[in-house]
Amino acid sequence: MCSKDAKLPPHVLIFPLPAQGHMNSMLNLAQLLCLSDFHVTFIVSEFNHSRLLKHTSTRSTFARYPGFQFQAIPDGLPDDHPRAGLRIMDIIPSLINNVAPSFKKMLIEKDLLASAGRRPVTCIVADAVLDFNADFAEEHGIPLIYFRTISAAAVWALFCVTEVAEANELPVKGNGMDELVKSIPGMEDFLRRRDLPSFCRVDDSNDPALHKLIALTRQTVRAQAVILNTFEDLERPVLSNILTHMPRLYTIGPSNVLLKSRLEEKKVGPLTSSGSLWAEDRSCIDWLNAQQPKSVIYVSFGSLTIMTRDQISEFWHGLVNSGHKFLWAMRPDSAGSADRVIFELEEGTKENGYMVEWAPQEEVLNHVTVGGFITHCGWNSTLKSIGAGVPMICWPYFADQMVNSRFVSDVWRVGLDIKDSCDRVVIENAVRELMELRKDEFSKRASRLAAQVGRAVREGGSSDRSLEDLIRYIGSMIT
Ligand code: UDP
Repeated sequence: MCSKDAKLPPHVLIFPLPAQGHMNSMLNLAQLLCLSDFHVTFIVSEFNHSRLLKHTSTRSTFARYPGFQFQAIPDGLPDDHPRAGLRIMDIIPSLINNVAPSFKKMLIEKDLLASAGRRPVTCIVADAVLDFNADFAEEHGIPLIYFRTISAAAVWALFCVTEVAEANELPVKGNGMDELVKSIPGMEDFLRRRDLPSFCRVDDSNDPALHKLIALTRQTVRAQAVILNTFEDLERPVLSNILTHMPRLYTIGPSNVLLKSRLEEKKVGPLTSSGSLWAEDRSCIDWLNAQQPKSVIYVSFGSLTIMTRDQISEFWHGLVNSGHKFLWAMRPDSAGSADRVIFELEEGTKENGYMVEWAPQEEVLNHVTVGGFITHCGWNSTLKSIGAGVPMICWPYFADQMVNSRFVSDVWRVGLDIKDSCDRVVIENAVRELMELRKDEFSKRASRLAAQVGRAVREGGSSDRSLEDLIRYIGSMIT
């Protein structure tokens, strides 16, 4: 390297699993690093890259960061593959297997992405589920940082699944779902078997998929450092447990709020939604503008959930019967083969509600008229609701969402958890409880949590300091 190149900033390669939730928090990190003048290469699948460019303000958002570039690689799936829903669990292993060779080939052929004015990759920040990065980084002597995009609570629960299995506390064949799990330190008093990550619901404790997951989680410690999208005040006890296994831990969450705060500080222009894989329908903001403060319940089940016709119908009846106004973001591919039901709902919703296919979720949650959120408890959605001070009704679908929803209801106490039921009466009652009967109680706690978010991201706050530490750590790799 010539002396001119020695002055070049660090070049960070960021590599999320090609799924909306994983990409969102890692795109926030990419922008945060670019604001500190780092060079960033962001790996996306070709499929997602074309959707990003088609549906969002991606071009203009990233044009303001001269150090940012996308690098698209094939994900090995046919273009018409749905890449969503329950099938995602079948897809993820093949997705990981498919992206691994194209990623490694691309990096080697492109000389670890060195170019004029850009040094070869300084470190890899990889999604912790892309476990092949540990061997690759080791072979090539590149420092590796894992980004785990789920809550610290879910990371810790997954980390302890071996102990849970040894203590015979897995809900094998649905056994003892309401019994407390005693083998996860710190969660003995409130975590039931039904609140374990959904992969623990097995027919046999030797289930190969479960054991693959345990291995995947345990290998997180192979990275030199780990990043979590959370903040200290929210998950302190869990974080101290994780720290005993992953001592170099950076908590930079909520990454969307930290980014917003830094953009304001640096006067770089407003936060624009930069990572949506679907077209945002902004007509819902006009509809919200015409509603009363805190009167609307927002409904969204994220980017992967697939619901049956019956489940959609139960939610719709529960909402309508509650008499509360609602805004429902329902992806066109979320209803399986139930297209007709969506049409019927749209027709029947005119009085009380509004439906869009994809909403500008952060803006919706921060809108003054939104008073509650029916969510599947994906970690990004949960954190965005916490950041906006909006209480939740949790209907988790799978994976870490089972743990998150228990924390929402029983630890942070900013909502209700209705997991494992889908009944119009339960839904109606939950909406009334959240929006009427216990409204003040939930709102107060949610506002307190939102204030903690504000403190975490402001200059000198825990997430702000953690990001600074991370930036210094990566900076030290080139000196
Ligand atoms: N989201 C959005 N508009 C919608 C629905 C979801 O922008 O109509 C965003 C949401 O804000 C979050 C992401 O999509 O950032 C979903 O990620 P999450 O972790 O909540 O759930 P997943 O989709 O991974 O299950």
